[in-house]
Amino acid sequence: MAGRSALLVIDMLRDFVEGPFAGPDAKALVTRVRAAVERARQLEIPVVFVCDAHAPEDPEFRVLPPHALAGTPGAEIVPELAPRAGEAVVGKRRYSGFYDTTLEARLRDLAIDTIILTGLQTDCCVSHTAADGFFRGLRIVILEDAVAARTTEGHRGALTEMRRLYGAHVTTTGRLHASTARSG
Ligand code: ZN
Repeated sequence: MAGRSALLVIDMLRDFVEGPFAGPDAKALVTRVRAAVERARQLEIPVVFVCDAHAPEDPEFRVLPPHALAGTPGAEIVPELAPRAGEAVVGKRRYSGFYDTTLEARLRDLAIDTIILTGLQTDCCVSHTAADGFFRGLRIVILEDAVAARTTEGHRGALTEMRRLYGAHVTTTGRLHASTARSG
């Protein structure tokens, strides 16, 4: 296969699933992201967890309530999605998984040209990570059943914009094999 994909799991943390940021659908999303992660493992697609690990002075807290402070229980990955040995966990302090993190180097080491995005929120950290991936020349795939936002409008609007601006291929976990073959 010419192309090589990695599955990113974005901000599936206690504060986003159980805490003040949790949408009504958060628990159901855990099940769907877990299905995507298990599918990726079956297909030998590397799984990378991209996780907020904030410092108290981070600029996000000028606009959002504090969340996912590094080293606190709220910043832990939910237990249903615990990484396996050898799966990377990348901490971030901004919406984008690429901003001032080790993600780009890790993807380069794995010769990744396509990122498959799952997690939270479709219209915030998923969108910003898609943008920064696109700027770096990566192809963007979104599993629409494995991402969510606090509102349906935010979710749908973000999917539309990621298609329009970054050429994102929006698909589902059930079609993961087809979508990854597409990049190869
Ligand atoms: Zn954050």
